[in-house]
Amino acid sequence: MTETYDIILRNGRVMDPETGLDRVCDVAISAHKIARVGHFEGSAAREIDATGLIVAPGFLDLHAHGQSVAADRMQAFDGVTTTLELEVGALPVAGWYERQATLPRALNYGTAAAWIFARKVAFGAIELDADVHPIDQMGAGSEDMCWSTEAADSQQTDEIVSLVRQGLDEGAIGIGLPNGYAPGAGVKEMADICDLAFQYGTPTFTHIAYLSNIDPKSSVDSYVRLIGLAGATGAHMHICHLNSTSLMDIERVVELVSKAQEQNLPITTEAYPYGTGATVVSAGFFMEPDFVRRTGSNYSNIELIRNHHRFTEREDMRRAREASPTDLVMWHFLDVDANDEHRRLLDLSVTYPVVRSLQMRCPG
Ligand SMILES: [Zn+2]
Repeated sequence: MTETYDIILRNGRVMDPETGLDRVCDVAISAHKIARVGHFEGSAAREIDATGLIVAPGFLDLHAHGQSVAADRMQAFDGVTTTLELEVGALPVAGWYERQATLPRALNYGTAAAWIFARKVAFGAIELDADVHPIDQMGAGSEDMCWSTEAADSQQTDEIVSLVRQGLDEGAIGIGLPNGYAPGAGVKEMADICDLAFQYGTPTFTHIAYLSNIDPKSSVDSYVRLIGLAGATGAHMHICHLNSTSLMDIERVVELVSKAQEQNLPITTEAYPYGTGATVVSAGFFMEPDFVRRTGSNYSNIELIRNHHRFTEREDMRRAREASPTDLVMWHFLDVDANDEHRRLLDLSVTYPVVRSLQMRCPG
C-alpha cells in the first residue's frame, strides 16, 4: 500500500543548510510537517511539480525595511517567510507590534528597538508615534540635524538608553544602530548602548558610522571601532550590509572582521548581492562637503526613485532633500556590469562565510 500525504513537491532541487543536503528529489508534507524527503512512491491531495525550482526552508530576512503587506507579498515570491526590521528598528515597540496586528501581514515579522529614534527624541527632533512607518521616521526631523551631528551629553545618553531599554522590554529582538545616520554619536554613548545589549543578551545591528575610503573618519575607522565595542562590552555586533558601507575597502574590511571572528569576538555580518544601496534622500552623509573624494562616487551615481532623476551635484541633492526629505534614493556604489574590479569586490563580500559559530558570552 502506498502512503498518502497532504502535499508532495516533486523533482525540486532540495537544499537544507542545516544538514548540507543538496540534491534533486521529492518532499512530502503531512499535517504541516515534512513527512519524507527523497525518492518515494506515494500520492497526495496536492502534487506540485518543482522541476527547475529550489525547495528550501523559508528564508529569514534580517534586513527588511518594507514592513508592509505589499513588501510581504513581494518577499514571499523570493521564499522569505520571516521579515525583520533590525537595522533601524521601531519605537515605540509595543505600538509597532499592535499596529502590525491590525494589518493582514502575510509573513512573520519582528523589529529591533530603534536607538536612532530614541536619539531624535533626546535631541527634541521628533515625538514617538507608532503610526509613522520607521522609514518615514528616518527622514523626520531633518530641519535641524543636531541629533545626527552632535554627541549626546550624559542626560541625553540616559534618556536614549532608557527609551531603548523600554523597547527591549516591550519585545524588541535586538537594537538597531544606524550609526551612519548619526555619526556624531560618541563612543561613550555607543558603549552604554552595547552594555545594555549585553545585559539583555540581545544583538545590535549596525550601519557603521563613516562612509569613506580615506582617513580620518574612514569606513575602516568605523569597523575597528565596532570590533572594539564587541571586545570591550561583549555585545553581539551584527554588521549590516558589509559591502555598501566599506565601498572600495571591502577587501580590507573582510580581513579585519575575519581576524576579529578568529578571536571569537561576537561579530556577524551580511552583504547585498548587488552593487546598489537604498536610503532616504535626507541621509546626512550625502551632504558631506567632500562626499565625492571620500566615497569614490559621483552625485550621478545617486538616483531619485520617484522619477529616476540622477543628481548632478551636491546642490541638486540639497534641493531634493529640502523639498521632500523622506523620498527614497538608490545609490549605485558599484558598477558590477561594466567594471571587473567592482564585480570582484561584490563577489568577495557575498561569498564571505557569514555564518560562524559564536560563543555568546551573555549573562542569563
Ligand atoms: Zn543601512
